[in-house]
Amino acid sequence: MPDTATMEAIVSLCKRRGFIFPASEIYGGLNGFWDYGPLGTALKNNVRDAWWHDMVDCPPDGPDGQPVSIVGLDSSIIQNPRVWEASGHVGGFNDPMVDCRESKARYRADHLGFLGRKGDTTGQFFAFVSGDDSSMSKARKKLEKYVKAKLSDDDLDFCGIESMTTARLAITVGPDAKEAGTLTEPRQFNLMFKTYVGALQDEDAAAYLRPETAQGIFLNFKNVCDTSRVRVPFGIAQIGKAFRNEVTPRNFIFRSREFEQMELEFFCHGDDAPKWYEFWCETRKNWWGTIGVKNDNLLLRSHDSDELAHYAKDGCGTFDVEYRFPFTAPGYGELEGVAHRSNYDLSQHAQHAGAKLEYFDQERNERYLPHVIEPSAGLSRGVLAVLCEAYTEDPDRPSGVYMKFHPRVAPIKAGIFPLVNKDGLPEIASAIHRELRGKYRLEYDPKQSIGKRYARMDEAGTPFCFTVDAGTLETGNLTVRHRDTLAQESVNKDQVGNFLEDQLG
Ligand code: ATP
Repeated sequence: MPDTATMEAIVSLCKRRGFIFPASEIYGGLNGFWDYGPLGTALKNNVRDAWWHDMVDCPPDGPDGQPVSIVGLDSSIIQNPRVWEASGHVGGFNDPMVDCRESKARYRADHLGFLGRKGDTTGQFFAFVSGDDSSMSKARKKLEKYVKAKLSDDDLDFCGIESMTTARLAITVGPDAKEAGTLTEPRQFNLMFKTYVGALQDEDAAAYLRPETAQGIFLNFKNVCDTSRVRVPFGIAQIGKAFRNEVTPRNFIFRSREFEQMELEFFCHGDDAPKWYEFWCETRKNWWGTIGVKNDNLLLRSHDSDELAHYAKDGCGTFDVEYRFPFTAPGYGELEGVAHRSNYDLSQHAQHAGAKLEYFDQERNERYLPHVIEPSAGLSRGVLAVLCEAYTEDPDRPSGVYMKFHPRVAPIKAGIFPLVNKDGLPEIASAIHRELRGKYRLEYDPKQSIGKRYARMDEAGTPFCFTVDAGTLETGNLTVRHRDTLAQESVNKDQVGNFLEDQLG
């Protein structure tokens, strides 16, 4: 069963400690939008910087043992609207959706589940939002009330939208409805946010907020080739906001309407694409381990043919790196997609824009449109995976919980505390803080009881706390507390920098 209690506790901790708040909260919020508080911003920036460091500044070794070549880019959120016609998003970026005429709620068709009594071909079906525990138990209660009997799991018939004929929908009660037959057939719904550029709000001025960062990379492929010393195979990486008017934003920041992506378009010769595809699937799955996401909670899953994106053609596949989120457990939810996009995007833009985007390969003496392998990760979803992974209950601690962040992404690397706010201790602690704060994000806090300060650092996921006490005045030694083991050891005040260097690199 999905772990609803853990998810609720994570959301509550995120709000209480300033990781993530609902956007426009004082106005009642806006569904699908979130704001990052001080700790959340630091955490998100650390995940973002780790990705950029490992993809662009210090990319991995490729299949031949040599570092791969990757450069960075930062393109506009709003582009010429013809971009989205060429990319297929205007025509194809649709989610089939089901409306409920009674409750006025709207659901993504592939996110609806249907519950009936096994063997009963004429009785009612009850719809629920899959992955939403309370919606499923509501549907089950409605079914039991309808058949006037308690049902065991074996008595239940579960199915998805593909099994729901028009006749069946007519005898189905929606997730938030009382009457049967109020759900519409699935209809297409364009997920792109529309806006207008300039003073006039007519169709000629219509434009879209980008639904993915990838297209900005394809648009600049030629610019990058012409201005930098890149040679195929190479990659262009970009991190930035993307916007999708999701039908059912849910599960905290897992599915929101404004989010961030970390995308790499890796350009290679078509013959080499299978080799690079395999390389990036493996490399990207392993990368999550470097920021503390355990391999046991990750899965590499190949898309079924009916799931393939609109750009996928014969012979092109997609692997998802999936994470076992509390709300999907024991199942998994997508964290990152690694797609073999062939030369679809470059050839679409070449055709629609009438531009020459072919690459001349001097080594092969051949002109061609490179094929593309695209590891496309969610930064916001990545932050959620990191939060879920770090959340650790411990009834023996005053906070009852601590966040076991990998030191690489921990928002605060160490706390520097005087045991009491007097007797010359604050001066020593603040001098250490001032000396090291340019190198590490540290928190200096002289107030409150030491227990309360430790508890706050546990919830913030701070790996180390240094405490200056009366003994420090005599020996120069202070105590360092390790967040995960609660072990305490003595370190000289002149060695704090070296200690952090050893632990954090
Ligand atoms: P899903 O099937 O969950 O809608 P997708 O397959 O449409 O996702 P992609 O287009 O492959 O997603 O986007 C790449 C990554 O961007 C995803 O793996 C995910 O991490 C992130 N992402 C996509 N949509 C959202 C969203 N609405 N909110 C947060 N992150 C998202």
